[in-house]
Amino acid sequence: MQNIRNFVITAHIDHGKSTLADRMLELTGTIEKRNMQAQFLDGMELERERGITIKMTPVRMEYEYKLRTENLGLMTKNDKQEARGSNSKSSVLSPKFILNLIDTPGHSDFGYEVSRALEAVEGAVLLVDATQGVQAQTLYNYEMARRAGLTIIGAINKIDVATSEQADAAIEEVSILLGVEVEEILKVSGKTGDGVAELLRAVVERVPPPKPWPTTGSQSAAARGLIFDSQYDEHRGVIAYIRVFSGEFKLNTTYHMVATGAEVKTKDIGYLKPKLVAGEVVKNGEIGYIATGIKDPDLVKIGDTVSDVRATTQTTQLELALPGYREPRPVVFVSFYPEHPEDYDEFKKALAKLRLSDSSIRFEPDASEVLGRGFKGGFLGKLHFEIAAERLDREFNIPVVSSFPSVAYKVNIPLSGKSQAKNLERVDGELDTYWVKNPRDFPLESTAVYEPMTAIEILTPMQYLGPILKLKELYRFRDITTETIGSAASGRMLIKARLPLADLISDFDDKLKSVSQGYGSLNYEVVDYEKGDVDKLEFLVAENSVPGLTRILPKAEIESEARSTCAKLKDLLPKQQFKQAIQASLRGRVIARETIPAESKELGNFGKNGGDRTRKMKLWKKQQRGKERLEERSTNTGVRISASVFKELLKK
Ligand code: GDP
Ligand code: MG
Repeated sequence: MQNIRNFVITAHIDHGKSTLADRMLELTGTIEKRNMQAQFLDGMELERERGITIKMTPVRMEYEYKLRTENLGLMTKNDKQEARGSNSKSSVLSPKFILNLIDTPGHSDFGYEVSRALEAVEGAVLLVDATQGVQAQTLYNYEMARRAGLTIIGAINKIDVATSEQADAAIEEVSILLGVEVEEILKVSGKTGDGVAELLRAVVERVPPPKPWPTTGSQSAAARGLIFDSQYDEHRGVIAYIRVFSGEFKLNTTYHMVATGAEVKTKDIGYLKPKLVAGEVVKNGEIGYIATGIKDPDLVKIGDTVSDVRATTQTTQLELALPGYREPRPVVFVSFYPEHPEDYDEFKKALAKLRLSDSSIRFEPDASEVLGRGFKGGFLGKLHFEIAAERLDREFNIPVVSSFPSVAYKVNIPLSGKSQAKNLERVDGELDTYWVKNPRDFPLESTAVYEPMTAIEILTPMQYLGPILKLKELYRFRDITTETIGSAASGRMLIKARLPLADLISDFDDKLKSVSQGYGSLNYEVVDYEKGDVDKLEFLVAENSVPGLTRILPKAEIESEARSTCAKLKDLLPKQQFKQAIQASLRGRVIARETIPAESKELGNFGKNGGDRTRKMKLWKKQQRGKERLEERSTNTGVRISASVFKELLKK
């Protein structure tokens, strides 16, 4: 264990975590240079396309640490023995270390992913882009790492492009944040590899090895592994990623899940490099995987402990269990309905599969009179939802209709409105208060509505303070405070405020980026509920109600939102062979309207040179099908709204 170091790289989005990890993989020979591709650990197609990390990725590296010669003279025989550790073959001058690195996502929506990674390691490299300085998520990541009790190594990145003034300012900011001398902050370039060897040395020198399990207590000899992530494999079932905290895990051995009680026989076990590399054992202090063979993902819970002891009593359970995680809390809700009802079963399977690779998503059955049977999904934020929707579309290819992304409201419904509450879930411990997670369910009668609030932190250069505060005109900011951060010379401001989550998901991050020319950075956390003055706005297209367009909005904004949404829909919705009226309705009263003119569809001009008969026939058939579907839709589901339309409609 003396020769193991477990650490994460954590940073604001785009500060270069994944690129730095690339250089570490190269330097340690984990990935050969010729097999290298940029942001290697971003394995998902979507991650590569968007250039962001969505899932954490653990990787095991073997590293030969060259002892500093200046230290060598000071070493006693004992020190040398210790430096060599269990690896008796390696030389005293270059003992071998196992470095387990976890690359983490940076966006606020994925804070849960980061929090889990932090529980599996002893150290964190807090990386700051030298050209940007400390950003909102840097502060948040630092706070999380500190709370998790990790040793934090500050490093500034992109020194290949930063000016020396920028680098100095960034170093100063990081040193103030960490409360350490400027000399302790490392300088690296993930691009050129400069300083990366020095950073790996610092990881070995400063991050403590895993701690041995205390020998007291009745279960001190038990094997304990914390399940911090998982993936799913058709053949091997759920593959649990574990961090071993005591004992070891071996091939072909039976283990037990402490919380769910499920039994596991390890037919396959090994390390992540980052591909699964099968082995015989995962030792104490290490990070590895066990293929559980379990097909039901609910039996392999992230945050559960796996052990060689079967917990038959609650006392043993308590003695075995490692501190787990709080359950993720979904905050954005969207309902999905397969466009063709016959796809329902396949869609259900697709959702289950999606959950296997992202356990923070929640789904429950949902039905709409107009849209048919579907599912309500809960997500950790707007980006999380967008990514899930995109994956559903791309990986499973089932056309679905979705509802407007909504937050969950707590609504107090009086006795007289009881009939409207019959399908709603009651808020725990409250008498007449219900959860409304789909705008469609918002009751006509209510005595009080509470909406989720976020605490936001925005970091910005001084000159954008004005434009950012002006966003008050569009968003419902509360309790704004501002303070200077870092040195007065760097002139950066930290703005703290409260903002309803509903406003935050209305494209707030893009607006912030545009008014601050990309320099303002945002972090947020959902904190509590506050009384809100909101109502339900509904839309009809061609006389058909479109339940997916229903939104809950602040009363003060309803009229203007009704007008602007009608105008946007006029541009966004495809023309049909008939004229379509768009109407916004508040409590049955039309408060705004627009008309989409009809489009005259022609068969096209094939005749010119005799044309190509088969092509002509194909086109004609296609149009016939199109017509049938059109009729089907107008009788069945009204108008289908694609996810990209919602995105446009959410913009202020
Ligand atoms: P992450 O979101 O923190 O994982 O950041 P990425 O590793 O995906 O990098 C974000 C962007 O910064 C990419 O375009 C990288 O090519 C670029 N980048 C990362 N490290 C460096 C660096 O040291 N120098 C320069 N010039 N660019 C870098
Ligand atoms: Mg990344």
